[in-house]
Amino acid sequence: MTQTMEQLHVDTLFIGGENVVPQSSARIEVRSASTEEVIGSVPEASEADVDAAVAAARRAFDDPNGWSQWEPARRADALDRLADELERRAERIAQLVSAQNGMPIAIAVQLEGGFPIALVRYFAGLARESTFEESHPHMIGGTTTVRREPIGVVGAIVPWNFPETLAAFKHAPALAAGCTIVIKPSPETVLDGVVFAEAVQAAGIPAGVVNIVPGGRDIGSYLVSHPGVDKISFTGSTAAGRSIAETCGRLLRPVTLELGGKSASIILEDANLDLASIGENLFGATLLNNGQTCFLGTRILAPRSRYDEVVGMFEAFANSLAVGDALDPATQIGPMASERQRDRVEGYIAKGSGDGARLVTGGGRPDHLDKGWFVQPTIFADVDNQQTIAQEEIFGPVLAVIPYGDEDEAIRLANDSDFGLGGSVWTSDDDHGYEVAKKIRTGTIGINHYMVDPSSPFGGVKDSGIGRELGPEAMGSFQQLKSIYR
Ligand code: NAD
Repeated sequence: MTQTMEQLHVDTLFIGGENVVPQSSARIEVRSASTEEVIGSVPEASEADVDAAVAAARRAFDDPNGWSQWEPARRADALDRLADELERRAERIAQLVSAQNGMPIAIAVQLEGGFPIALVRYFAGLARESTFEESHPHMIGGTTTVRREPIGVVGAIVPWNFPETLAAFKHAPALAAGCTIVIKPSPETVLDGVVFAEAVQAAGIPAGVVNIVPGGRDIGSYLVSHPGVDKISFTGSTAAGRSIAETCGRLLRPVTLELGGKSASIILEDANLDLASIGENLFGATLLNNGQTCFLGTRILAPRSRYDEVVGMFEAFANSLAVGDALDPATQIGPMASERQRDRVEGYIAKGSGDGARLVTGGGRPDHLDKGWFVQPTIFADVDNQQTIAQEEIFGPVLAVIPYGDEDEAIRLANDSDFGLGGSVWTSDDDHGYEVAKKIRTGTIGINHYMVDPSSPFGGVKDSGIGRELGPEAMGSFQQLKSIYR
């Protein structure tokens, strides 16, 4: 089934609270991942546009009566209005994301449509409840007041896999803290940002508090080193994160990095392998968004004692998934976000076979779809943890089943990775699963499911990043502490 939707072409950029004419004629054209047809276009921000966006954010931040100086409860009210406006536009946002990056619409409605609303409301509540200054006796005499002040102008660089949710990971806590922000979306997903800007305007967020500069890595890099920016928050590949961290190190600019992953799904010997009862949770933990999700446990660690059973279950699981147009409500696996991304995934599949892993199912393009950047859900068995497909982030619907002997070996293999972002433990004994989870070097991990919690820190260790998003810690990462001795 091929779904059609209206095209979205705009001629302006959202800077300083207005839709302004860009300073160059360059444009970004977006194609549907499912049909390869052009579905919209926006101006591509130039360096001069980034200068204007940073200047607008700077003015809004430095305004002595502006956003950064408002009572937190007043900012919270504005964020609640933003959440209301996003709610009005949730369906349109979900459709645009789904058409652009191939996220199945059923998932896009919940995550890209719904989750940002929950995040904005959560951080509005946190701004209302939190203490922004606290006083205690000075050790030598008098009083010290410790203030949590907003860090300043934030440069937020967002990838294409969850463009609205991952932008909200940044703007919701940053705005709650009193910062202003310049958001740079990924070129693959620039259309949803147009609707987000409409919501910002409709919510009456003051001019310059939110600005959007669509562009590629050059413009991202320009924003990272811009003298008017006080903090960078980045989500994307480890390679780009490393380069951004180098720049921020040189500039002594605080940076939060949420990078790639190659997490382990550890199937313990007592795990329930009944697909009918665990299928939904397994999907969320291993294949969500066509495998284009950073926290997925794409290394399946399976006990030798039940190895064939586990491989058979994953084969049936992969074969049961409906692959199709992302806008079809029945679709579970949509296309890759771009042709380049499909080439990358196919390159890894070829590498897996070349390295001697056993292709159990998938590996090619679906026969019934002649347009769109699709890859079949693919399962490799007999994978060695040192092989490329077990060590590098594929970012597609490709799972590697790796055998282990005893539990100590499972834990060792889970930790034998450059990454440490997500993961899951599958067991009939929750307490035992918890003991195993404690031994995994990772930022987040689930037991018999994996679900990000807006009120708890999210982020990675090792090559998966620095710092945490979500939860109170996220707002803290957009604040500076100031001690005033009185
Ligand atoms: P990328 O890291 O190159 O791009 C992510 C974002 O960063 C985009 O907005 C991009 O324009 C920007 N960017 C890239 N290099 C930059 C730089 N040096 N300075 C400033 N901004 C920069 O990711 P990609 O090329 O789109 O995808 C490649 C791989 O990255 C994927 O296959 C996947 O493995 C991984 N990835 C991970 C995530 C995640 O959520 N962890 C998201 C997207 C991609």
